[in-house]
Amino acid sequence: MADSSSLDALVEALRRLPGVGAKSASRMAFHMLQHDRDGAQLLSRALQQAAQNVRHCERCNTFTEAPVCNVCLDVRRDATKLCVVETPADQAALERTGAFRGYYFVLMGKLSPLDGIGPKEIGLARLFERAQDGQVSEVILATNFTAEGEATAHVIGEALRQRGLTVTRLARGVPAGSELEYVDLGTIAHALVDRR
Ligand SMILES: [Zn+2]
Repeated sequence: MADSSSLDALVEALRRLPGVGAKSASRMAFHMLQHDRDGAQLLSRALQQAAQNVRHCERCNTFTEAPVCNVCLDVRRDATKLCVVETPADQAALERTGAFRGYYFVLMGKLSPLDGIGPKEIGLARLFERAQDGQVSEVILATNFTAEGEATAHVIGEALRQRGLTVTRLARGVPAGSELEYVDLGTIAHALVDRR
């Protein structure tokens, strides 16, 4: 064992990354300290900056450094359409199709009762508030076609219909079990056009 409390602290900190166990945390720490001190400094500064500056958009909940993100600030978009996605990567996939010109709400997750992720954790209250701004007339549910994504869409859909909003779901055609991020653009664009 190496004799350094700083090294121990680094390994402990790296273990907080998802999917990183004790062994790979040690390997990463040794690598940075032995071969890449510049990289270590860079990583440390980037982490600190991001942890300090990145926050959630007040309107759509995505990551941004300003109170409101650039997409929400774009006044040329169609304010009657609000598309609900799980992650910023899913939003980016929809944006790349060029087939949607409304606004988004980014859940930053999905309902997952077994992992203790309920309506509160994914900010559903904020979504409901956003959807009832008086301008939105259709909410398009574009959560992933996984079991959890479908369950999330179901819960949100029911709640929004009760509030008198029109709710649509991306059409099938996106393969079951798939995450939007990895589906080709044409398929997503079709799913958007054929939504019901
Ligand atoms: Zn936003």
